[in-house]
Amino acid sequence: MDEYSSLNQIKLISNNTKLSTELDIELLILNLLSIDKNILYRDDPRLSSEKLKELKELVQRREKGEPLAYLVKGIGFWSLDLYVDENVLVPRPETEIIVEKVLEDFNASEKKVLDLGTGSGAIGLSLSKERVGWEIYCSDKSYKALQVASKNMQSNSLNVSFIHSDWLEAFAPETFDIIICNPPYIDPDDPRVHSDGLKFEPISALTSASKGLNDIEIVISKSSERLVNKGSLYLEHGYDQSQQVQSLLEKYNFSDIRKFKDLNGDDRVCSGKIKKC
Ligand code: GLN
Repeated sequence: MDEYSSLNQIKLISNNTKLSTELDIELLILNLLSIDKNILYRDDPRLSSEKLKELKELVQRREKGEPLAYLVKGIGFWSLDLYVDENVLVPRPETEIIVEKVLEDFNASEKKVLDLGTGSGAIGLSLSKERVGWEIYCSDKSYKALQVASKNMQSNSLNVSFIHSDWLEAFAPETFDIIICNPPYIDPDDPRVHSDGLKFEPISALTSASKGLNDIEIVISKSSERLVNKGSLYLEHGYDQSQQVQSLLEKYNFSDIRKFKDLNGDDRVCSGKIKKC
């Protein structure tokens, strides 16, 4: 049976690819052989013809723009390893900003917290790892997303409650101290939606009507009812939506409005506190 050096194949294959870097191919091999990087570079394990064929098929999918996270069925987020597939958005580094800010703003004292539209569970599960005393709920409209998030809860030995809900419909008024949401916010007419990467992700998790602001407005208006007095809302939004999101927060009686930048320097997150009379 023919066998091929993994390290040679990384070089050979990456010479003929446009999108896949050597690092991508390395990660695909680590995943295919279930080994870690040390073993790859220490032992240069052999690839059978079958494994090489599988590798080349995965590289072809990558060349068509499929996110690497879907090909290796996983991604690191915060301090967690998350399973992801085509039913959920691939968690982005910019979403870690929201986790960081919530942790900065609230200590370990008991809180009732909702990760609204949880997808893979990235935000809610990261918070649950850091704040064991918090009662954390993760909701989504998609059952398939909830299955992914539940798998991630188990694999990371965490404990949150999953709720099937179209935005805040399943929840009673004045329920949460903190609501966090990374809603769909891309304008459906934005050509990026059809670009490599995004076109493989669930469209319902990406785009929203009214130039990307429709779901953001629903989330802000309904959160104002579901938060307790002085409760906080944290929202991720598009790089050019900060001003509009701030205006919407004011429209629905939020105060103490703050904005935060992502690692690219773009305004990416807004937060506010609800004031009830
Ligand atoms: N942050 C993603 C992007 O711009 C979009 C995620 C979202 O719509 N919530 O690629």
